[in-house]
Amino acid sequence: MAAKNFLHELVGSMSQGAAGNPTVAMIEAAFRHHGLHWRYVNIEVTPADLADSVRGARAMGFRGFNCSMPHKVAVIRHLDGLGESAGIMGAVNCVVRRGDKLIGENTDGKGFLKSLESVTNPKGKSVVLFGAGGAARAIAVELGLAGVKRITVVNRDEARGGELVKLLREKLKLDAELVIWCGDYSIPAGTDFVINGTSIGLYDSEARLALDVNSLKPGMVVADVIFSPPRTRLIREAESRGCTALDGLGMIVNQGVVSIQYWTGVNPEPTVMRKAVEEALGD
Ligand code: NDP
Repeated sequence: MAAKNFLHELVGSMSQGAAGNPTVAMIEAAFRHHGLHWRYVNIEVTPADLADSVRGARAMGFRGFNCSMPHKVAVIRHLDGLGESAGIMGAVNCVVRRGDKLIGENTDGKGFLKSLESVTNPKGKSVVLFGAGGAARAIAVELGLAGVKRITVVNRDEARGGELVKLLREKLKLDAELVIWCGDYSIPAGTDFVINGTSIGLYDSEARLALDVNSLKPGMVVADVIFSPPRTRLIREAESRGCTALDGLGMIVNQGVVSIQYWTGVNPEPTVMRKAVEEALGD
């Protein structure tokens, strides 16, 4: 007879090549802080093993799992349903067991939104978003669902940028436009939020976004997805010009907060999680 011998409820991360994943430290710190008998394990999964891994997680009673690239899209066909934003953007980073079903959610954009909502209300705001990859897509969809007025996507690759703008217009009926990024971009007057959704700045605190920094004005909220290092050149420039700056740690911590809420029903303490992720990153 089959026995379930777990001492803990299990959640995990299915990833490939995510060495030193700071998410493990962050989620486990929250479990410890709240006295939750849960474990979060990092599991290396190749694309060829994804289907079996999801079947295994289901069979072993995992309460959910995160998945990172390259699994965010491929995992969908192994699930039983999708949350609203995950369905719109076609990408899942957090799977949640609800009853006997595995449901795909996307907490990247929700984490960004939570971080943004700690300083302002996004409703009716105008946004400039650099990038059109997975992170930018998640942010744009969540901002659209939160009621922003307009999103200008600034991206180098026309096809990728065009695809995101089409999605925002068709699925969210949003006022969205694409600007092909060449040379320094000047933020138009009337912009409320400026967001770096590209990988520029990752592991390089001096990396520069092609942006006319004189067009950053006090009162704008400037956010960066980059969490390592958190004080990117963009964040420093924004602060020195009187903007409200939001670093990428806020997004990563809050996506973890939303994931833990989904899995456990507990509302975790973000300061404990931020400290753990900072320690894991060595900041
Ligand atoms: P993708 O590879 O899907 O997209 C990368 C984007 O960056 C593309 O739009 C690409 O433009 C753009 N880009 C990269 N290099 C340049 C450059 N030199 N000049 C102009 N544009 C450039 O990556 P993701 O969207 O998945 O991730 C982006 C970043 O977000 C990563 O650094 C990741 O670590 C971070 N991230 C942070 C999270 C958080 O919680 N803080 C969560 C998820 C991701 P193009 O289309 O023209 O190639």
